[in-house]
Amino acid sequence: MKTVAIIGAGIGGLATAIRLVAKGYLVDVFEKESYPGGKLAELRVGGFRFDLGPSLFTHPERVDDLFRLLGEDSADYFQYNRLSTLCRYFWPDGTQLNAPANPKEFAYESRRALNVDTASISEYLLAAGKLYTLASPVFFDQPFPSVKALMSPAGRLLIKNFISLDPLFSLHQRSMLAFKDPKMAQLFDRYAAIFGSNPFRAPAALKIAAHLQHHSGLFFPEDGMYSIARQLADLALRHGVRFHYNSLIQRVNRNIEGNHITGVRLLGRNLDYDLVVSDIDINSFYRHGMVDYRSPLPGRLQRAETSAIIFYWGISGVHVGLDLHNVLFAANPEEEYRYLYKLKKICPDPTLDLYISSKSVPKDAPAGYENWIIMVNTPADIGQNWDQGITRLREIVLKKINDLLGIDLNGKIVFEHIDSPPTIARRTGSWRGALYGSTYNSRISAFIRHPNRRSKINGLYFTGGSVHPGGGIPLCLASAKIVADLIEEKEG
Ligand SMILES: Cc1cc2nc3c(=O)[nH]c(=O)nc-3n(C[C@H](O)[C@H](O)[C@H](O)COP(=O)(O)OP(=O)(O)OC[C@H]3O[C@@H](n4cnc5c(N)ncnc54)[C@H](O)[C@@H]3O)c2cc1C
Repeated sequence: MKTVAIIGAGIGGLATAIRLVAKGYLVDVFEKESYPGGKLAELRVGGFRFDLGPSLFTHPERVDDLFRLLGEDSADYFQYNRLSTLCRYFWPDGTQLNAPANPKEFAYESRRALNVDTASISEYLLAAGKLYTLASPVFFDQPFPSVKALMSPAGRLLIKNFISLDPLFSLHQRSMLAFKDPKMAQLFDRYAAIFGSNPFRAPAALKIAAHLQHHSGLFFPEDGMYSIARQLADLALRHGVRFHYNSLIQRVNRNIEGNHITGVRLLGRNLDYDLVVSDIDINSFYRHGMVDYRSPLPGRLQRAETSAIIFYWGISGVHVGLDLHNVLFAANPEEEYRYLYKLKKICPDPTLDLYISSKSVPKDAPAGYENWIIMVNTPADIGQNWDQGITRLREIVLKKINDLLGIDLNGKIVFEHIDSPPTIARRTGSWRGALYGSTYNSRISAFIRHPNRRSKINGLYFTGGSVHPGGGIPLCLASAKIVADLIEEKEG
């Protein structure tokens, strides 16, 4: 039986472990923290439970697949529901839009709130859906970029319909052309931020993210987001995956010729394995010397540009005007992205993502209270003064909530925890606190992500959100499938 060491129990590492144990490999997962999930973690304190990472859950069937693979029914352990409202949007001039999940109702509501032509919305979403159908078999389900992927029937179909990729426009240009309304463009541009990218530079093809929520659906687990990681770790454990927590892997060992891995190094001891799969942020993997890499760093390492400051607040009172997901927009989105990606500073008027899981999971907060998580995108950590930045941003956030929602939080915050790029980097091992690995800030970003395998080092594979096909839970789960299939193909 071949042995595999997986470094990191993030969502990609967990899914890869499940897929490999299903294929008959002996799998050990090494995780530096004391819990599984990586960026998908949780904090429990004083009767509150906070999800410390993702809040948007799409493509739950990719989780169901993992249970099915091991002969189990996910419904026995993991229940989730499709949300009927995607989000409540608030603009600084007082405009509000409750976005229903149903595309027709969404178009109707958008016309009512923003006077946007409903046909423009249907056409945009239709094009996004068509692009997803064409691109997903090539980009998300295969090792890419590869000639093999492009020469597959799906690849040839994509090339034939190359124009659907909308190659001439940025996401923002496409949104403005489609809706001719800055607020609607700002709403759809927000989908680039979901991938940690700048809509003024990211390719229009990122509109497929809108398709994910508006067509495939936005879901929420009945026990909150962290239950995804907990249930996958339990599933893996039930089927023989061995977990080693508090186990920081120091390096990946190679043979004398350097062309094949021989195992991993833990606490100064060498442990032998046939194969190694890294779920560590790919930038950290190389830059922290996990392999003594004799040639220069791979060209495909792009910059990690998007992180966040996140306020976790236990709030007294129940606020009926808010939903599970709420967005409070910046007045000037172009300026916001200029601060993020050019000046690399916290924007003085940022967009706020406000996620309140107790709206769906009442036990996440004591009766009469709510658990507010307010995320503000920031640049990655390049040595900015974060203490000063957090103090200033806290004031900005409190004022913005008062101005846009009419809620004065002074005296209502009964608990506070704050995450910032350095704390995210420390906890999850992500490079400079990046949320999604590299950004998609150029038209070719999707083609140049780090591959799932490097041909120069046999037996070494890469999974998770910082490599192909990309960040976010569904793509991490897709990367796990690609890696497991690659291992079967290359190693037998
Ligand atoms: C604040 C935030 C909000 C997000 N929002 C969303 C969202 O709404 N929807 C969505 O789909 N995605 C979202 N994401 C992105 C998503 O969380 C990630 O893409 C995904 O969880 C990454 O999983 P991964 O497999 O790459 O592993 P990671 O989560 O990066 O985990 C890597 C693991 O490796 C461990 N590790 C690192 N180095 C070592 C070592 N040397 N030895 C042993 N272990 C090591 C780390 O401790 C960690 O547990 C968000 C991320 C963040 C941080």
